Amino acid sequence: MKDFSEQLNHAGLKATIQRLAILKYIGSVGHSSIDDIYENIIREHPSISLATVYKNIQMLIEADILTEVPLTGSKSKYEIKKEEHMHLVCQVCGSMEDRVLDKAGQACIVSLVPMESFDTKFSQLNFYGICKGCQEDSTQSA
Ligand SMILES: [Zn+2]
Ligand SMILES: [Zn+2]
Repeated sequence: MKDFSEQLNHAGLKATIQRLAILKYIGSVGHSSIDDIYENIIREHPSISLATVYKNIQMLIEADILTEVPLTGSKSKYEIKKEEHMHLVCQVCGSMEDRVLDKAGQACIVSLVPMESFDTKFSQLNFYGICKGCQEDSTQSA
């Protein structure tokens, strides 16, 4: 795990308690919505407002430390920026799993993009379905 205060300093941002708390929480859970982040931050820092959390998250995205993961049918989640990967999103419990694409997978996706007419800035690939745990739950109750 990278040192968050070092990353903040490197990006020209002060390593405030709030920012460190946000990064630490997201780092520990992997992917989190703004409501979850806020609920967990106020446990330790009751004076922080939702607006402050939101503002800091936007700053951390601009600083390339966080990434927003927009999701179909639910609120965006946020994660610590890491190598490009795709997501398996469970539509039942909302869990998200990271899957890193190997070189062949990346090359395959890139080959679908017309480089001469489309200037790619970034890409995100999400697969929606039902995770293993939720599949097992539904067979038990059936
Ligand atoms: Zn699930
Ligand atoms: Zn992810």
